[in-house]
Amino acid sequence: MSAREADVVVLGAGPAGEVAAGRLADGGLDVVLVERELVGGECAYWACMPSKALLRPAQVLAEVRRVPGAASAVTGGIDVAAVLARRDEVVHDFDDATQMGWLDDRGITLIRGAARITGDREVTIGDEVVRARRAVVVATGTTASIPPVPGLREAEPWTSREATASKVVPERLLVLGAGVVGVEMAWAYASLGSRVTVIESAPRVLVKNEPFASEQVTAGLEDLGVTVRCGVKAAEVRRPLAGGDVTLVLDTGEEIAGDELLAATGRRPRTDGLGLEAFGVEDGGPVAVDDTMRVPATDWLYAVGDVNGRAQLTHMGKYQARVAADGILGRDAAVRAEADGAWVPQVIFTEPQVAAVGLTLEGAKDAGLPVRCVDVATQGNAGGSFVGKGATGTARIVVDERREVIVGATFTGVEVAEMLHAATIAVVGAVPLRDLWDAIPAFPTRSELWLKLLEGYGL
Ligand SMILES: Cc1cc2nc3c(=O)[nH]c(=O)nc-3n(C[C@H](O)[C@H](O)[C@H](O)COP(=O)(O)OP(=O)(O)OC[C@H]3O[C@@H](n4cnc5c(N)ncnc54)[C@H](O)[C@@H]3O)c2cc1C
Repeated sequence: MSAREADVVVLGAGPAGEVAAGRLADGGLDVVLVERELVGGECAYWACMPSKALLRPAQVLAEVRRVPGAASAVTGGIDVAAVLARRDEVVHDFDDATQMGWLDDRGITLIRGAARITGDREVTIGDEVVRARRAVVVATGTTASIPPVPGLREAEPWTSREATASKVVPERLLVLGAGVVGVEMAWAYASLGSRVTVIESAPRVLVKNEPFASEQVTAGLEDLGVTVRCGVKAAEVRRPLAGGDVTLVLDTGEEIAGDELLAATGRRPRTDGLGLEAFGVEDGGPVAVDDTMRVPATDWLYAVGDVNGRAQLTHMGKYQARVAADGILGRDAAVRAEADGAWVPQVIFTEPQVAAVGLTLEGAKDAGLPVRCVDVATQGNAGGSFVGKGATGTARIVVDERREVIVGATFTGVEVAEMLHAATIAVVGAVPLRDLWDAIPAFPTRSELWLKLLEGYGL
């Protein structure tokens, strides 16, 4: 056993761990970062980045085809091999060498291996023990969760890892679950030529979003030839030969055959074997933290990112990491409860895209807020006309009528992702609607839809 000391030990070098380590090192602390796979984490190699690399090419192609004058230049279809090659480039062929300069510049020590917490402020990696003078930050993320459907695990389903890393495009892909990962991967593989069937037990896809977003994403998937089945459950999965045909049996008795089955059925915190039992953490359960990201009843243990189960998105893990680092550096820091909860912004990169922040209309009503919504077409202005014909969508704001502020917004349509931040600022800043009149969108940009939203409210 060898032993060393550091001010802070960070477990996991995904986006949350990296941001925590970077901010702590920038603050002058001596940081050890432990990673058992690749520096960059799930996000960089098997999640956000490769999934977007698979989604983007067909969307660009569709965009060009919508615009007269450019459309005639498109003479071919999607080049699947080139899409997969570009995806490999985005994930650096699973090599994290490019990340080393960033760590070196900050003087962060990287230890490769699986870390366990073996005592107060003590972390063990193989035969190396690191004692933290100030704090330990757990940022070990999540892994795919496989539901207990008979035969599913034995059928060796794809998880998001195989779906984002596959070197082949299956002829028939079954997708279990129509949350964000399910719809994004269904869209991506359909655009690459798979015949895709999506099975969802909820009555609609993207059940946490506004119903119009679910309808439009369903229509977008169906336009690509995807079969979307909602309100049905998987009863059993059969795959007699490893790598052979897989059959999904529904609770209706119906059987659907595929070449691969993607289980897009949620995530489970990577807490197994971490040594956190003493802090009430069950294997696979989240590490509960307070708004400073500290585990209650300790003054040294923090958890940031997916592993704490609060808001499983990269930007949220990075937000929490900045808060944890600031607290460890002795600054007064805590997440705003709503920013880490009700106000979380998210983009779903299908076509149409869905960009949403804050409460849905139903969510706001359930919260007892006196709300009214305004809906306008995303394409209904001069800026929108340049996006091309047929690029439809909806913009909705949910307004708290008592305070006259926006508590939620959803945009659907082509490339609406970049519209989201304006809405996030309005929601988080509780900007009075009347003040938004003075925030003038440039002509001819699609952001002029804000004028229609305000007019629609009656201002
Ligand atoms: C298909 C897919 C697409 C997604 N797309 C988006 C998106 O577009 N935008 C978005 O915001 N979010 C997206 N997400 C969610 C996003 O990937 C996660 O929110 C993000 O990766 C969480 O970051 P993290 O640092 O908490 O954990 P991770 O990225 O999971 O990193 C955790 C790291 O900890 C390491 N680790 C685990 N255990 C140990 C241990 N014991 N010792 C040492 N190291 C350990 C792991 O190897 C890993 O590198 C997507 C997720 C999926 C599955």
